[in-house]
Parts: sequence; structure tokens; C-alpha cells
Amino acid sequence: MIITAKQYVEMSPLSFPLKLKSGYTITELVGECSGCGALLRDLRGEVKEYENCSDLRFAGFCQPCKTLVTCRFRRYRDGRFEEEHDGHWRILVKVTWWTRIEKLLFKLMGRIPWKS
Ligand SMILES: [Zn+2]
Repeated sequence: MIITAKQYVEMSPLSFPLKLKSGYTITELVGECSGCGALLRDLRGEVKEYENCSDLRFAGFCQPCKTLVTCRFRRYRDGRFEEEHDGHWRILVKVTWWTRIEKLLFKLMGRIPWKS
């Protein structure tokens, strides 16, 4: 997923709890930079709801790398999580323990140099 700095600024800050129509509630979302491991600041994003899944895309800013880091994933009604990676969807988890944890930690993969 590629987003520009302008698109990022225009996205809303995420507010919690985030109730997905696929039947899952996220109480907190933590993004970690895949480059340096720092926690991302100012997570912003949007959710699109489809019949069989919730499509969540979000981005955060890594202060040490001065980089915008993005993530997009889908949560299906059957419990699957998939993450977009280089334009393909890959299954993250298919098991039920994900439904018990509410705090999600994502290593965000898409890295976009920050241009202001
Ligand atoms: Zn970083």
C-alpha cells in the first residue's frame, strides 16, 4: 500500500475501541517500525467494511527514521487475518487465539520517506 504524506495527513487519527463489523473489537493498535523497531507515533487510518471482511489501512510516523510506515490488513468473518505485502495478501493467522487478544502489534512494512 502506498500513501503519500498528504493522504496521511488527511486520514483521521484512529480512535478506540474500534469495532469491526466482522465481529472483532480492537482496543489498542500498536505499530512498530520494521526498520528500527521504534513505536510509531500518531497512527492514522481508515476502515472499510465489506460483506465478508473489514479492511483496515493505517500509517504512523517513525521519528528516528523520519519515515512514514504503512500497513493494511483485513479481518474476515471466519477469523482470518490477512496482511497486504507487496501487493499480495498473505495470511497472518487463522487461529482463534487472535480473537482473544485485543491489543494488536503490527510490524509495519511499507516504508515511505517523509517529505513535508
Ligand atoms: Zn524506524
